[in-house]
Amino acid sequence: MPFQPGRHFLQLPGPTNVPDRILRALSIPTNDHRGPDAVALTAECINGMKAVFKTTSEVAIFPGSATGAWEAAIVNTLSPGDKVLAFDNGQFAVQWSQVASRFGLEAELLPGDWHRGADADVLRARLREDSGHDIRAVLVLHNETSTCVTSNIASIRKAMDAAGHPALLMVDTVSSLATMDYRHDEWGVDVTVTGSQKGLMLPPGLSFNAISQKAIAASRTAKLPRNYWSWDDVRDWNRKGFFPYTPSTNLLFGLREALKMLLEDEGLDNVFARHARHAEATRRAVRAWGWQVWAANPAEYSCSATAVTMPDGFNDADLRGIVLRHFNMALGAGLGGVAGKLFRIGHLGSFNDLMLCGTLCGVEMGLELAGLPHQKGGVAAALEYLSAAV
Ligand code: PLP
Repeated sequence: MPFQPGRHFLQLPGPTNVPDRILRALSIPTNDHRGPDAVALTAECINGMKAVFKTTSEVAIFPGSATGAWEAAIVNTLSPGDKVLAFDNGQFAVQWSQVASRFGLEAELLPGDWHRGADADVLRARLREDSGHDIRAVLVLHNETSTCVTSNIASIRKAMDAAGHPALLMVDTVSSLATMDYRHDEWGVDVTVTGSQKGLMLPPGLSFNAISQKAIAASRTAKLPRNYWSWDDVRDWNRKGFFPYTPSTNLLFGLREALKMLLEDEGLDNVFARHARHAEATRRAVRAWGWQVWAANPAEYSCSATAVTMPDGFNDADLRGIVLRHFNMALGAGLGGVAGKLFRIGHLGSFNDLMLCGTLCGVEMGLELAGLPHQKGGVAAALEYLSAAV
């Protein structure tokens, strides 16, 4: 890419813009990860993450991407040959089930619709059939990033309870934590998975499990081998204020700053309201262009990012390429099963009204330059909404 002045617009559904405050925190000189300062840092990060997950149970922080935290959820709680259920409703949902298969688990994909969230009725019916309780875990995405469709985790929990089924409930919040309300304890989730690079406003490189007491009990008898991802090791060392290996010290400095911003300076409820408002403004722009939001059910719209359906005969790559070259903005591609069928506008993380306006301007100008059929006025529709709903 030739030199482009000004700030890059990183409008993927993550990684997201890292705000200056966090960049400065990341640049604090690395300290002794087994020295006295590390103890307070560890406690602040774990306690802050408990508040974000809304849990009083346990949180493990790993150096690693969120794929590692998927793996941690599996290897700590399950045994070879165990059966797990997932939904065939998005690229990341399918990929998580594939991680389970690679560990020798029997992963069953429940039929799903890639325009919709996980169907609690389908789950209830399948769990009722499993009278021997062979299914040991249910894997669900709170926000399926590939399609920008959410699932109602409280209703998934209700379906499991209605079926009287003891399987563990594991939820991926990689692209929803700190953008949409999430309640690990209240919704009876056993393992919540997330990563640092989206709502937490950090670079990629940290991943997390929030862990219920039921999941900890399961980990005592689970037989899959584990080393790097071992909850026991993390917990033993965290109690002393340290980690079993060298942690990503600078990312922890960044996390401490992010937690201050989310919990103290803005407040989680305001964070959620901001994301909801930007998502609504984006959808208004999309509709004014005469295009369609990919998610079929308004109750399942994502507040983190919006997937926009490509009209028949057009591919998202041209549009994204033009927007990148002309306006220095990265938009999300269609991934895996939806490659070429949609593009995604990320509006999560450290983001405000004018950043959203710039983003939508870039898309609208890109539609024009790419010669894609559309009506003008998407940006205007978003501006009208934003200025009426300040
Ligand atoms: N789960 C979801 C919902 C994601 O969006 C992603 C990545 O975007 C992942 C898991 C995998 O995360 P990572 O790329 O950090 O391993």
